[in-house]
Amino acid sequence: MANSSIRYGASIRKRFNEVKREKRELYKCDLCSQMKVKRISTSIWKCKHCGTVYAGGAYSMKTSAGENAKSVIEALAKK
Ligand SMILES: [Zn+2]
Repeated sequence: MANSSIRYGASIRKRFNEVKREKRELYKCDLCSQMKVKRISTSIWKCKHCGTVYAGGAYSMKTSAGENAKSVIEALAKK
């Protein structure tokens, strides 16, 4: 099953790149609206501007469930 193992490896690499990108990203602070929220440790996010600490996902502030809900809301808003 050489083909399936190659596919598996590619999807892991793709996932790893996505995680790396999300970890570098800064998020918008709900309190001061600055793009200064940075991941400081697993599931902990902190705004560099006003110091607000958020509990979020391990690698991304938004959980995938939250992301899905948001895209649904955006899709509905366009209609
Ligand atoms: Zn802030």
